[in-house]
Amino acid sequence: MDDSCAVCADNLEWVSYGACGHRDVCSTCVSRLRFICNDRRCCICKTESNVIFVTKALGDYTRMINDFSVLPSDVREGRVGSYWYHEDTQAFFDDVDHYRMIKAMCRLSCSVCDKMDEHSNDGAKRRGKFRNIEQLKGHLFHKHRLVMCSLCLEGRKVFICEQKLYTRAQLHQHINTGDSEVDGTESERGGFMGHPMCEFCKTPFYGDNELYSHMSTEHYTCHICQSIQDNMNITRIMMTLRQDDL
Ligand SMILES: [Zn+2]
Ligand SMILES: [Zn+2]
Ligand SMILES: [Zn+2]
Ligand SMILES: [Zn+2]
Ligand SMILES: [Zn+2]
Ligand SMILES: [Zn+2]
Repeated sequence: MDDSCAVCADNLEWVSYGACGHRDVCSTCVSRLRFICNDRRCCICKTESNVIFVTKALGDYTRMINDFSVLPSDVREGRVGSYWYHEDTQAFFDDVDHYRMIKAMCRLSCSVCDKMDEHSNDGAKRRGKFRNIEQLKGHLFHKHRLVMCSLCLEGRKVFICEQKLYTRAQLHQHINTGDSEVDGTESERGGFMGHPMCEFCKTPFYGDNELYSHMSTEHYTCHICQSIQDNMNITRIMMTLRQDDL
């Protein structure tokens, strides 16, 4: 077992795992997959887990739950015995601070309304009124005519309320060139130049890694008629990736 997350490659500080016991992915990645993408499968073996356990990653000393059936069933949000249960990701935590951190990350709120609330006194009333992401997206669009970038939503490791909001035109610009007025100056957006596009299916991807794995699974092994062109593209992408490493 490595000490970096198998999905995001960040240092593995907190680990989430299900009954299959694969302790290779960080709690942030697992929470995002379960909460945002509604994907309950283990990233390693693709086994679906109804509940998961979140604990500090300590290599061989990582706390192990061997039998998930001993975890309480029919539980509600909050403290359960010696654990804390997070309903949105169906996860048990053994650390209250980390539980609060993940809970805050998954909190669905409208940052536009939140900002308006800061100037009035009934701010707390609006908190937690969205039951899922689709509801929040609907609110953003119908109330404010704003959208989130779905690629950033799945790819950026930030709280949902920190996701940037775009008008349709700004989103277009964000995906293509990365320089919409919402994204800020070049240094503010960390050199972001828009999401890379697959030239074959004209679909944008979050970053070069996502595009690369799409290319290698979707296009690399396809028809002979295209294989030469695909090969050239793979080589080109790998060269750009290598240049980034320098
Ligand atoms: Zn991760
Ligand atoms: Zn697994
Ligand atoms: Zn709002
Ligand atoms: Zn984006
Ligand atoms: Zn493609
Ligand atoms: Zn092809």
